[in-house]
Amino acid sequence: MTTNEQLFARAQRVIPGGVNSPVRAFRAVGGTPRFIARAQGAYMWDAEGQRYIDYIGSWGPMILGHGHPAVLDAVHKAAMDGFSFGAPTEREIELAEAIIALVPSVDQVRLVSSGTEAGMSALRLARGATGRTKIIKFEGCYHGHADALLVKAGSGLATFGFPTSAGVPEDVVKHTLVLEYNNLQQIEETFALQGDEIACVMIEPIAGNMNFVRASVPFMTKLRELCTKHGAMLVFDEVMSGFRVALGGAQSVYAQLIPGFKPDMSVFGKVIGGGMPLAAFGGTKDVMSQLAPLGPVYQAGTLSGNPVATACGLATLKEISKPGFFDALSAKTQGLVKGLESAARDAGVPLVGDSQGGMFGFFFADSLPQNYGVVMATDKERFNRFFHGMLDRGVYLAPALYEAGFVSAAHSADDIAATVQAAAAALKA
Ligand SMILES: *Cc1c(COP(=O)(O)O)cnc(C)c1O
Repeated sequence: MTTNEQLFARAQRVIPGGVNSPVRAFRAVGGTPRFIARAQGAYMWDAEGQRYIDYIGSWGPMILGHGHPAVLDAVHKAAMDGFSFGAPTEREIELAEAIIALVPSVDQVRLVSSGTEAGMSALRLARGATGRTKIIKFEGCYHGHADALLVKAGSGLATFGFPTSAGVPEDVVKHTLVLEYNNLQQIEETFALQGDEIACVMIEPIAGNMNFVRASVPFMTKLRELCTKHGAMLVFDEVMSGFRVALGGAQSVYAQLIPGFKPDMSVFGKVIGGGMPLAAFGGTKDVMSQLAPLGPVYQAGTLSGNPVATACGLATLKEISKPGFFDALSAKTQGLVKGLESAARDAGVPLVGDSQGGMFGFFFADSLPQNYGVVMATDKERFNRFFHGMLDRGVYLAPALYEAGFVSAAHSADDIAATVQAAAAALKA
């Protein structure tokens, strides 16, 4: 037994499935998960001392790479001053100010500890602020594991959804309508029939939980139009895309394509914590004033705005705000995707990719999928073989064909070249 196998066997005795978040178990791709001992810059080392070029980056947060000196320093200083107080701190104001300065649609934010918590709270706030119950989400988008959001589409068009997890009562999800991503006709029909009952439309604007799928510009334009017309809130789940696809998040990308575009509420996580448990939701002052202690919508958290987490997040935002940061990151990420495409072309394998900022996806297919059904119909067997071929060659990709990848500022041109070389070998094998 290898050390990773031993650790996995031991983990499974005391932790369900041996992991604290299911995708880490490698169930989608098979094989033994690597137990990570440490990480630095663009690399992670497992318990056997094997080095990997890291394209997960803790599923997004590690945009600077691991162990960035300015972040380490900020975390160290904050820790020396105390871990948690249960009372307000100046650093929470600074982080809120930093987020608001970068995201024009947001006047106020509330800090929480996970993306799940932020999404769940945004949903409650949208319902509380509109006095409505129904919500719309899209198949393939993940918004955390709150009951009302663990829903898949029913059969047929635009029906209400079914729970994707045991333990979620049908009564809880009967208000969640699950539509197809990028399907204009479905969203129009749904609003025509029940527009005045819909509290919000929640969407991953650039969806990273079905690999990498962009909401089309006509689709996003239509969502904005319909929400405004019917008094529903457009909620951008930017837990993954925020401060990752661009400094101003996916909403800044759409604002360039659709004049005056803004969501009503936004949900953030991952990058804003820089690897520490931290997330946020925000919107206009009007909407946010509905939250306790000002308004009737309750929301709270013992560790919310934690002083060490906010220090880590602030230091991270400061680094990514430096001039040229996203230009360099985007160029590098585009280079990786082009490299993968050209390696596949040489190997005679159909592969297409896309990226925005430091987030990318690739598919074993002839063209980029526009919705979840098409993503899941791409070549899974080939993806899994490729995943293991890359892992064996020291490249750690997301262990499922429906997950996005992430490049960090610490990835060098040599790292990208080594990755493309590994891909060329893996695709030919
Ligand atoms: C990761 C993610 C979440 C959930 O965040 P957690 O911190 O894992 O609870 C929600 N929405 C999106 C888009 C995500 O990628």
